[in-house]
Amino acid sequence: MDALGIRRRLLFEKAADSNLTAKEQPAMKKDLLKLIDKLEQTHSLTLEEYESLIDGYTPQAARCLAQKASALRQSIYGNTVYIRGLIEISNICKNDCYYCGIRKSNSSCRRYRLTLEDILDCCGQGYALGFRTFVLQGGEDGFFTDEILERLLSAIKNKFPDCAVTLSLGERTRESYQRLFDAGADRYLLRHETADPIHYGSLHPRELSYENRIACLKQLKEIGYQTGCGFMVGSPGQTARHLAEDLKLIETFRPHMCGIGPFIPHQATVYGDHPPGTAELTCYLLSVIRLILPSVLLPATTALGTIDPRGREKGILSGANVVMPNLSPISVRKKYELYDNKICTGDEAAECLQCLKKRMASIGYQIVIDRGDYASL
Ligand code: SAH
Repeated sequence: MDALGIRRRLLFEKAADSNLTAKEQPAMKKDLLKLIDKLEQTHSLTLEEYESLIDGYTPQAARCLAQKASALRQSIYGNTVYIRGLIEISNICKNDCYYCGIRKSNSSCRRYRLTLEDILDCCGQGYALGFRTFVLQGGEDGFFTDEILERLLSAIKNKFPDCAVTLSLGERTRESYQRLFDAGADRYLLRHETADPIHYGSLHPRELSYENRIACLKQLKEIGYQTGCGFMVGSPGQTARHLAEDLKLIETFRPHMCGIGPFIPHQATVYGDHPPGTAELTCYLLSVIRLILPSVLLPATTALGTIDPRGREKGILSGANVVMPNLSPISVRKKYELYDNKICTGDEAAECLQCLKKRMASIGYQIVIDRGDYASL
């Protein structure tokens, strides 16, 4: 089934399910239950089985998976939620990814770049609020050479020695990754976007290749970064088979972190008219990923909170254990527009954090002051 098919089915079943009392709901298909049990016990399925699990989505199966995933997450991370302060350091990008609002050829995007002082100020504000991880994310902006990033990293590490720094700056050379690691970077987020090379080719211009993306991820892991991959749910042309390939990649690559969120169209991109991914399928996949990798650091992303007003709470209840409030200066928030209607672009960092603390408390979870490293069992 393709993404549109999955989406229609989800909408239909959501409506049907909410009209049924618990007694009237059909028993979950035996095969599906078997798959979920196998996944829970072995943390692994075949490609075909992952595909059946995705095609077999029902609200009931989602609840069953979420229950198992939450229990597993609880046994490792308790009811704590880790926070990461996201600092969007530049929206200047040399790439032209077809889905991304800050792509090079979007001439309506007002470009900005934070100075080193701006970034250190964001960290200072974040530290005072209790953040112990800073995520520096941006487009592939040539200004941020290794030398400049080394200076930035050593300044952050000097001032905030008890903090972790995560970089999310796209594809660089092995030598560059090594230099940044030596300068103090602890983690690197580089979503693989899709584990299917042909699908990858339909989302990116020719200069970008699936092979290089994966080579980068391997290098990052070898160097010693806590490494994160991930993908968009409902991206243009995505099928259940593609998602199964994503899950298989996660199972075999074993990242420390995994960022997934719904695709949301940006009007100034090639896929501006494509429908968005759903919160339901995203949450379903969050549960599956928790069962594949019990200790994985799994964020309930801003995109999930954008597509559904209670998306981040639903993500945590499905097995996620990280949220990433925005620490960027308010003046640039709207300009880092990866997709339309991104939430939290007008609030001070303190307000964002307060709001998230309340949201987490409302579902029985607690935001903690902690670097939030990967729990190696
Ligand atoms: N240049 C960095 C950061 C990219 S932006 C890099 O290459 O890793 C971070 C993530 O936002 C991307 O990896 C992508 O998965 C996600 N993203 C981009 N456009 C999006 C959209 N339209 N909808 C949802 N997520 C999007």
